[in-house]
Amino acid sequence: KRSIAVMTSGGDAQGMNSVVRAVVRTAIFKNCQPFAIMEGYEGLVRGGPDYITPLKWEDVSGWNAIGGTNIGTARCMKFKEREGRLLGCFHLIQAGIDALIVCGGDGSLTGADLFRAEWPSLVSELLKTKKITQEEAQTYESLNICGVVGSIDNDMCSTDATIGAYSALSRICEAVDYVEATAASHSRAFVIEVMGRHCGWLALMAGISTSADFIFIPEEAVNPGTWRDEMCETISRHRKRNKRTTIVIVAEGALDRDLNPVTANDIYKTLVDRLKLDTRITTLGHVQRGGSAVAYDRVLATLQGVEAVNAVLDSVAGSASPIITVSENKIMRKSLVDSVKLTKSVASAIAAKDFGKVLSLRDPEFIE
Ligand code: ADP
Repeated sequence: KRSIAVMTSGGDAQGMNSVVRAVVRTAIFKNCQPFAIMEGYEGLVRGGPDYITPLKWEDVSGWNAIGGTNIGTARCMKFKEREGRLLGCFHLIQAGIDALIVCGGDGSLTGADLFRAEWPSLVSELLKTKKITQEEAQTYESLNICGVVGSIDNDMCSTDATIGAYSALSRICEAVDYVEATAASHSRAFVIEVMGRHCGWLALMAGISTSADFIFIPEEAVNPGTWRDEMCETISRHRKRNKRTTIVIVAEGALDRDLNPVTANDIYKTLVDRLKLDTRITTLGHVQRGGSAVAYDRVLATLQGVEAVNAVLDSVAGSASPIITVSENKIMRKSLVDSVKLTKSVASAIAAKDFGKVLSLRDPEFIE
């Protein structure tokens, strides 16, 4: 009977529990034994039954409706070093596991593929130091990895949506709707800071959904000499049409073309000094990660969890790891390494101030 482990890693996102549920139940359906790795890579490094735990069908009952991740997530420095990964290899072999499904962001998935590539050399080292037997070394000669992207930021290239992104977007919309009521009552301006790290998807989509007056995102860095004039001109125009509220949404990673951050404070000062608006800043923070997943994320996570189990069962020893994506509404398998590489080249393009390239890498069809 094959054993398949599932782990959640990096920043938590709504829908991660649905991935775990789908993996557990699909594995059992396919006559495999599912395991949870608790606390992300930390659980692999620590090992033992507290961290590598078999799950039963009913253990994941009701998990679709629960936010966050019930099996825990963590950042684990030790796993970035070979010594930590060697421990991880030992603990997986100890538990009889040779397939691992990782739900996390690009950092977690990079770590997963590195672990897979390094696995044979880790196994030889364990054999040489007599931590495992010759028979174990043969049985566990390769590790199958499959990535599923869990991130509220929607920051992975080659998939249309990451698990959690639409839930976080919904939380932002609800919060802005609440703020809108008080803004209208006092005729105020609100600067709303949203998450997204280096990706402006949440801010852009929140801007559209809440009909914000102005947005700032890292992909479209503003001109440091003119953005204040442009923002004030737009907002004044809206105010002249008797609009009683002003909503400006700023992504936490927003930049100007000199790569200086555009902060909520900068925007606040501009609105107060130039337009004399009664202005407040609302940083939504971890509320965006809160609550249960919206239906879309539950469906996405379930379909991708099922496909991840199929992918590890199909995979040929030593072959490159897949990630499960959603592309044009279809659940697909793509190369994990290529997707991470493309995602990283967006960050390099931002660092090189090549903003045209940023947009074309994010969405090649959009730019054409
Ligand atoms: P995310 O997966 O959300 O991008 P991080 O980048 O913090 O989050 O990665 C989560 C964890 O994945 C890290 O704490 C570390 O244990 C592991 N990890 C990240 N990058 C690597 C890497 N290059 N090699 C090995 N492990 C890594």
